[in-house]
Amino acid sequence: MKKRISNIWFTGCGGCTHTFLDLGEGLFSLMDKDVEFVYYPLLIDKREFEEIDIAFVEGGIRRKDEERTLRKLRKKATTLVACGMCAVDGGVSSLGNLYSLKELYDTIMSRVEAIGKLPSLEKPMFELTELLEPIDFYVDVDYYLRGCPPPQPVLGNVLSSLTEEREPNRFTSIVCHECSRKIIGRKTPLSRGLGRAPDPGVCLLDQGYLCLGSITRNGCGAVCTLSGMPCIGCRGPSDYLYKRDDLSGTVVRILSARMGQAEKKVEEVLGDVIFAFYSSIFRGEISRTREISKFI
Ligand code: SF4
Ligand code: SF4
Ligand code: SF4
Repeated sequence: MKKRISNIWFTGCGGCTHTFLDLGEGLFSLMDKDVEFVYYPLLIDKREFEEIDIAFVEGGIRRKDEERTLRKLRKKATTLVACGMCAVDGGVSSLGNLYSLKELYDTIMSRVEAIGKLPSLEKPMFELTELLEPIDFYVDVDYYLRGCPPPQPVLGNVLSSLTEEREPNRFTSIVCHECSRKIIGRKTPLSRGLGRAPDPGVCLLDQGYLCLGSITRNGCGAVCTLSGMPCIGCRGPSDYLYKRDDLSGTVVRILSARMGQAEKKVEEVLGDVIFAFYSSIFRGEISRTREISKFI
């Protein structure tokens, strides 16, 4: 019998939901024999949940109705996978947590031109929660699939393994192990942007770019660093890092040793990288009671 799959999109950008389509032919082969989408608003028009074998959830929870839907989904789903950084840690969507609801409304609505009344804090279109929370704030999660969005090979591995009732392979190492850039141990001062194209064969960290590959879980095939973009850590902390008590201190020590730069200097540059450290690494620190074996 085919496994019944669902895919739902809460507060996120839709990127994780669309990543399923990147599976291409592989997805069609699975749909031929092994899986059936029973709820997937991007592809099928269905309003109610039926029994679900494997539920994939994108996005964090920012609205009360999302919370209710998530709880309903959990009751119907045998296995629930938090899919992407927003569902796992809050991700990009949680950057709004840095501001009050009033500040968010004032900022967004001041940019909108519309006829008639706009939603306001007093009369919102949806009832909002005070903060955007990852989904395990509300329900139990069986697997955490980090990435922004999750890399296609990792998603494919999870989908086919769970379909065959196997445990998915875990990626426990770091992005550097998938990156063919040469580490030469050059001591270049760390900087956010250097205003020039990087040398194509040399480790980005050695060239002074802030690349988080040495602390980030692998699985993506170093897709960013191999195209010249530093890793921003979207796969979250590696197993080694996750097990450290002082996660943020360990990040600084690793990068300081790797770069030959003073820890204080590294801290200064990292303090500026709100995306990576607030939305993934620091959220991860708060929620490290999660079983590491659930991280794929
Ligand atoms: S994890 Fe990234 S791709 Fe997925 S919903 Fe969040 S912002 Fe979009
Ligand atoms: S630090 Fe970045 S560029 Fe250097 S080897 Fe690791 S992933 Fe590649
Ligand atoms: S290289 Fe880093 S930022 Fe890019 S996909 Fe991999 S983990 Fe994410």
